[in-house]
Parts: sequence; structure tokens; C-alpha cells
Amino acid sequence: MRALRYDGKAPYLEEVPAPTAGPGQVVLEVTGAGLCHSDLAVMSRPPQDLPYDLPITLGHEAVGVVVDVGAGVRGLSGGEEVAVYGPWGCGACRSCLAGAENHCPYARAAGILPPGLGADGALADYLLVDHPRHLVPLGGLDPVRAAPLTDAGLTSYHAVRSALPGLPPDGTVLVIGIGGLGHVAVQILRALSAARIVAVDLAADKLDLALRCGADSALFGDDTVPEQVRELTGGAGADVVLDFVATDATLRTAAHSLRPGGEISVVGVGSGRLPVAVNLVPLGATVRTPYWGTRSDLVDVLGLARAGRITVEVEEYPLEEALLAYERLERGQVRGRAVVTP
Ligand code: NAD
Ligand code: ZN
Ligand code: ZN
Repeated sequence: MRALRYDGKAPYLEEVPAPTAGPGQVVLEVTGAGLCHSDLAVMSRPPQDLPYDLPITLGHEAVGVVVDVGAGVRGLSGGEEVAVYGPWGCGACRSCLAGAENHCPYARAAGILPPGLGADGALADYLLVDHPRHLVPLGGLDPVRAAPLTDAGLTSYHAVRSALPGLPPDGTVLVIGIGGLGHVAVQILRALSAARIVAVDLAADKLDLALRCGADSALFGDDTVPEQVRELTGGAGADVVLDFVATDATLRTAAHSLRPGGEISVVGVGSGRLPVAVNLVPLGATVRTPYWGTRSDLVDVLGLARAGRITVEVEEYPLEEALLAYERLERGQVRGRAVVTP
């Protein structure tokens, strides 16, 4: 089969043997695989700093059709279309049993790594999935628009759900970075909260997208944002800031835009630092670093899509053009999410 591999230098397309399902495993024919900015972060790191061996097949956002089930797999039949839960855990600890495999403290030491981020991923004709519990039926969703729900959607939903208790209906939430994740986060916020949504980006088309996704205001991301947020909120500041970029500049904007007792959710994996000390962040502030989401979060996010409350804006590419799509993502040219349909 064809696979987009990464060897520590650059991604390349290669013929590799198609996987077969061992006991308890499932093989999917990939029908949609999203490209995430985290892939670029991985490829910008020295290979020796990665917590897994290379080469691997990239792609950690996936939907596919079941084509092979291993011995002992029950309740799944060939031909079913499913979304893949990516942050695989040990399956047995307290976090995993609660569905929060994204918080499993044992997976890495046990050699259990997410597809595309350690295990072979979805930018290929077929994907091997370790266990059927990682699969959620698509229930009629379009596979191309559904693939990003497994990360851009799931991570955004998890971050929003975690921050919602601190976001009153007449409150304000600042969303920084209206890319693959941010444009879904705005829609999730619109669906779940009456709060004022203020979007921030550096590109005019992303600001337009934010407004179409339900944001109340869209601001160019310079150092006047905190002042503008204060004006919009009668001097109070935002109750919640979701930072999908996380450079020094955006984290400073987050801290300066927040009200006392507010929450900063650092979702982006930019290389910025947020100094946390009295007088550096508002009094009583909470800083959260959400990672991906829980298994039930994925069920919820697919439900929001099925209810028509969130629609991922997608650019579709064949596998042969995945490199071009990564280049566009790097240059900030992708509107919404780039999805490969092998
Ligand atoms: P993306 O490239 O699709 O979107 C990033 C957006 O941020 C773009 O619209 C860009 O114009 C905007 N932007 C860049 N610099 C900015 C600035 N200084 N101010 C305002 N806007 C700015 O990226 P994505 O795939 O949506 O990922 C967003 C971030 O989230 C990345 O850092 C990614 O690695 C990270 N991520 C984290 C998790 C997690 O579990 N925590 C999961 C997925 C992705
Ligand atoms: Zn990702
Ligand atoms: Zn576990």
C-alpha cells in the first residue's frame, strides 16, 4: 500500500506492506485523514528528541471503513465506517477506565503510542488499530468532514468543556488562532454557550471564517488585543482565553486579556512561555494545558456534527498531494483543515 512516511528529515511517499489484523486488532481502509499543525511541530524537532523511533507513517486524524478484524473482536463488522480515537492508553488504569486515555500515565512506558505520533498513522491506504474500543461509528457523517473531528474537533471540544464552568452566559471568551482547531472551537462555543466570542488571528480570511463560525467579533492579533477586550467587556477582561497558537506573544495577550479568576487554556504547542506568578497572570487565574480528549468527548463531538451544530471547513487532497498540503499548512494558507483522501 502507499504511505506517507517520515524518517526524521522529510516526509515521503512509499510502498509498504499493508497491515493485517492480529488478535484483538482492526484494520481500516482510510477514507479521510486530517493534517494537523502538530505534525509540523514533530517534523521541526530534532529526531532524537522524539519519544519514538522513526520512520513512521504520519497522520493522527482518521476515519475509515472496517476491512479486517482480528480474532476475538466482537461487535464490529466489515464495511462499517468509523472514527478513530487517537490518544491510545493502556486500557486498564483509572484514567483509561474513565475513558480519559489521553491522561494515561502508563501508555508510553508500555510502548503504546498514538497512530501517526509513534505508531503508524492514517496517511496511507490502510490503518491498523490496536483495539476496537478506539472506534466510534460515524453514523452517516461525511468521512472527509468527519476526519478532523477526531483531533481538531475532539481537542477543541475537550478544551471548551473543561473551561465552560468558568464561562457564564454573559461572559466573554477569547479564541486565539482560527485554524483547524480554532474554527471548530468557535462553533462548539457557539453551540454550548451564550457567551460573547472574540476571535483573534493574523489573517483576514481566518477572521472572516471566525465570524461565519459564530464569533461576535474578530480582531487582528497585535498587542492592542488586551485593550480591545477590556473595552468590549466594560473593563473586566475575558473569562476564558483559548490559545491555539502559544507563542510568547499570544500567551502575553492571553494573560493581559484575562479577568481575575479567569482561565487560560493553552492548547497550541508553540514554543512560547507563560510565566505564572502573582502579578504576571491575573489573581486567581487558572492555567490549563488540555491534551486531545476523552473517548466520550469523541462521541459528543460526532453528535454535535450529526446535529448540524459544527461543520469542519475542509480542503481535500489525494495522498500524492499531502506534501503540498503540509506546505500550505506551514505557510498558514489552509482554510479550516486539509484532509487527505487516500
Ligand atoms: P493551524 O495552522 O491550522 O492554525 C493556526 C492558526 O493560528 C492559523 O489560522 C494562523 O493564522 C493563526 N496564528 C498564527 N500565529 C498567530 C498569532 N501570533 N496570533 C493569532 N493567530 C495566529 O493549526 P492547528 O492544526 O489548528 O493547531 C493549532 C495548535 O494546536 C498547534 O500548535 C497544534 O500543534 C496544537 N494542537 C494541540 C493539541 C493538543 O492536544 N493540545 C491537539 C492538536 C493540535
Ligand atoms: Zn493534532
Ligand atoms: Zn491507562
